[in-house]
Formats: sequence, structure tokens, C-alpha cells
Amino acid sequence: MIIVAVVESVGGLIKRVAELLLRSRHAIALTGAGISTESGIPDFRGPDGLWRKIDPKIATYTFFKEKPAEFWKFHLEFVRIKRAEPNPAHYALAELERMGLIKCVITQNVDGLHQKAGSRNVIELHGNLEWVICLSCGMRYGTDEVIAMIERRGLPPRCERCGGILKPDVVLFEEPLKRDVLASAFSQAHSSDLILALGTSLVVYPAAYLPDIVKSRGGKVVIINMEPTEKDYLADIVVRAKLGEALPMLVKFVRELRGG
Ligand code: NAD
Repeated sequence: MIIVAVVESVGGLIKRVAELLLRSRHAIALTGAGISTESGIPDFRGPDGLWRKIDPKIATYTFFKEKPAEFWKFHLEFVRIKRAEPNPAHYALAELERMGLIKCVITQNVDGLHQKAGSRNVIELHGNLEWVICLSCGMRYGTDEVIAMIERRGLPPRCERCGGILKPDVVLFEEPLKRDVLASAFSQAHSSDLILALGTSLVVYPAAYLPDIVKSRGGKVVIINMEPTEKDYLADIVVRAKLGEALPMLVKFVRELRGG
């Protein structure tokens, strides 16, 4: 493992990442909440993370079932992130995909910002804030429609067809991931010879297994994160940097090394 800034500048490390990327056959990215903090969306475990202010049990399925109205009050705060815009990190990642260097973005985020920035092959492990589902009959609603229902009739929102409780179609703690989504992510990791883990503390499973899979198959692991992560020991290169600066720098080095 190459140890960070004191030994080598961020620029030097990012240049090595560019070299790895250009040598790779099937590079993928795994992103977490940290890639969206520069869009104004708080992460969970970073220095200004939500879990420093709120008890994480609010995001469990048990809490949702017991107190749906209270859950929805918290969720509505979170939903405002639907109006956030991508930042330079999202755009840089989309550019690397356009250049043919990143084959897939696997994200733990529910904010849709990768797609908004132009990434095409995106696997959303934890769902997307756009949708809400009825737990009784499975009817799906757009989030904006549900917000309008809440404004008319209060909390918690109920299904207009059967009266069942409505739940955001995102994966809460204690809930399993959708099987086909997980299978695609694992299949990508099995085919990959380089994974870039970006803005994730790598503590939430099964996402945190993906670097292990790539490593166990002889691939390389790069971690770019502002703070130490649970998987730094596994990484070939660890960079402590802000993604809004690091990823555009990566695109710049790739262009230089490729000659334009
Ligand atoms: P996390 O909060 O556990 O970790 C985020 C990491 O990103 C932290 O280690 C932090 O130091 C780092 N970070 C923050 N800003 C950064 C920046 N600008 N540049 C580089 N690093 C930065 O997040 P996680 O690992 O994704 O796991 C938390 C869970 O939270 C996920 O399951 C996800 O579904 C959910 N979540 C999603 C969003 C979103 O959709 N934007 C926001 C909050 C939480």
C-alpha cells in the first residue's frame, strides 16, 4: 500500500491512479455519500455527517414500521436532496465513462446525481429517492405526487388505492437489497481488474464487499476519501482528498497521459 500525502503529494498519487486506469481492462467505481457532500447533501459518517446529529435508528425498517409519520418527517428533509445538482466529481466520473475508462458506477447513493451528470451505466444499490411504494399492494408513486398527498392529508401518506402505508423505495437498514441489483453489482466486481472506491466509509455491507471481490481476483483497489476507511488496508493506493478536486485532476492526468 502507498501511504498518502506526507510521502507523496495528492497530485502524484492521482497521477498513479490515472496510470492504473489507463492500464485497466474493466475499471468500475463504487461511490458513497461523500461524492455528493460538495452538492450540499450531508453524508452519514463524515465530519458533518447526519449520524452526528440524529440517531441512525430512524433509518431502520423497524422504526419505519413503528412510527411511519415520524420517519416521513425525517425523510421529507432528506428528499430536498432531489433538488441538488451534480458537482465536479460527478461530472468527472461521467467523463471517464464517456472516455471508455469506467465501465460502470455502482452507487450507494439515492440522489440520482450520477445520472444527472451524464453517467449511463449506474447501478443503484440502495434505490432512488424518485419512487415510493405501497407496502400492502405494491403500487408505485412518484415522490412529488406523495409530497402533494402529504400536503393535502398529512402524515403518514397512505396508498390511494388500498389505504396501505407508503414507504420510500429506498433500502433502509435491516432491509435486504434487491436481488437482481446485487447480482449485477457482484458480476461487475467479478469482471473488474480495478475498482475506485470514492467517498464511502466502506462500512455498509454488502457494498463494502466489492473491493474485496476485486482484490481477491487479482485486481487493484484505489480509495479516494477524505477520512480513513474500513478497507484502507486492502488498497493499492489511498488518497485523502476532496473528490470535487481529485476527480477532475484525474481526468486531466488521463488526458495528458493519453496525449490529448
Ligand atoms: P458514509 O457517510 O458512511 O461515508 C462517507 C465518507 O465520505 C466519509 O468517510 C467522509 O469522510 C467522506 N467524504 C465526505 N465528503 C467527501 C468529499 N467531498 N470528498 C471525499 N470524501 C468525502 O457514506 P456511505 O459509505 O455512502 O454509506 C452511507 C449510506 O448512506 C449509504 O448506504 C447511502 O445509501 C446513504 N446516504 C446516501 C446519501 C446520498 O444519496 N447522497 C446521503 C447520505 C447517506
